[in-house]
Amino acid sequence: MNNQNEDYEFQVFIHPSQVHNLWQSINEKLKKSVGSKVYDSWLKPLDIVTYDGKKLILSAPNRFFKDRVLSQYGREIELICKKNLPGFSELDIIIQEEPDVAIQDSSTPNTTSIVIKDEENPEDFTHQLDRRFTFDNFIVGKPNELAYAAAMRVCESTSPGFNPLFLYGGVGLGKTHLMHAIGWRISELHKDKKIIYMSAEKFMYEFIKSIRYKDTVSFKEKFRSANILMIDDVQFIGGKDSTQEEFFHTFNELIDNNHQVIISADKSPSDLENVQERLKSRLGWGLVADIHPTTFELRLGILESKVDMLKTQVPQEVLQFLAEKIISNIRELEGALNRVVAHASLVGRKITLDTTQNVLRDLLKSNERRMVTIDDIQSKVADFYHYTVAELISSRRQQRLMYARHMAIYLCKILTSKSYVDIGKKFGDRDHTTIMHSVKKIESELYARPDLREDMDLIKRKLHV
Ligand code: ADP
Ligand code: MG
Repeated sequence: MNNQNEDYEFQVFIHPSQVHNLWQSINEKLKKSVGSKVYDSWLKPLDIVTYDGKKLILSAPNRFFKDRVLSQYGREIELICKKNLPGFSELDIIIQEEPDVAIQDSSTPNTTSIVIKDEENPEDFTHQLDRRFTFDNFIVGKPNELAYAAAMRVCESTSPGFNPLFLYGGVGLGKTHLMHAIGWRISELHKDKKIIYMSAEKFMYEFIKSIRYKDTVSFKEKFRSANILMIDDVQFIGGKDSTQEEFFHTFNELIDNNHQVIISADKSPSDLENVQERLKSRLGWGLVADIHPTTFELRLGILESKVDMLKTQVPQEVLQFLAEKIISNIRELEGALNRVVAHASLVGRKITLDTTQNVLRDLLKSNERRMVTIDDIQSKVADFYHYTVAELISSRRQQRLMYARHMAIYLCKILTSKSYVDIGKKFGDRDHTTIMHSVKKIESELYARPDLREDMDLIKRKLHV
């Protein structure tokens, strides 16, 4: 591997969850450069806190350690980072005062961190928003236009119009991106506002820690002084009663005081599991905006913008191919593009449809398996119950036919990424509530009725899923 290629690895987007891998690879280079003895005693104990595209923050066990590392090896670390981290300009080392904070951070590298603009207490929260998650980099299409418009509105208005703003949608569809974008925009527009962004997991962790250290008062103050509180992935709060309680109170207090609360989850408020009823209903009081599964146009738009950002060129037919095939979520779509681009750069060859298919063989296979269309389902279900598709989507209300219809609708919901509205259109223009009713009907009977389950398994087999 030559130097140019090594550099390249890091030009590919750095997601918070990749930061730890990145740090590992820099560590290997440091070890080579200073020798394993020095490395083991001085550099290995350092941990990465964050990298925001500019500033790298490490943590050291104590002040002595920090001073020593900076004076003896600071330059070496900076040199290696300059070579390997695009945009790197600054190194900072903080001191790990509470050992379990560090343990938590390294054990949950996927938990997006917390940002706070807290003038009195700048050491308190050191993590940062992801620089790539801005409104400028967010491509708007039908599936996310409502969520986008609501997010923009929150930034522009001086007093909260809808509170809370509840964003929900499947994995990798842009919830975290939108929240970070809100954070960036508000911090530009209203410099005096205190913003807290945190994953629900981290909120729980902070809360439990405050109980352990008998410091719940400052925990409460910290949160209740926020002008904007954003809690990401709130589905993870399910089940922990005391945390839910605390969250509920914090939430109410902020809203009563006219401070903006923004929540994300993978489900709508009413579908959250193990969440207290009053919290569910409270979460739904403001604006609930869902992000739908992506469309081909949106996927293509996102790919085109990523290609621009990577300052590279990819043939249009390859982009169209990817947009058509990688339908599961945007994270996977980006990953696929990165793989194709990285591969071409490593082997020094042009990107073609052929190389793309080769590089992504396994990914394409798994996406293909998931790609069943409504038409497929209708024709297999109709066959199975000896009806025609026309009968299946008709409005005839004969008992057995209705079950076949419910079954087909249910399968469309679980096997495709289509919305209730889309499915309704393909079933003789039925209303989305009718479609929801069918899905619920099968769902509720599936467990009690082995015959239904058996039918379903047989039909699924015919659909090769
Ligand atoms: P979620 O939080 O919903 O699981 P993320 O916000 O982490 O999803 O998004 C996953 C990836 O897809 C991120 O890299 C994000 O930048 C990208 N992404 C999502 N939606 C868009 C969009 N509309 N435009 C551009 N990039 C997007
Ligand atoms: Mg997220």
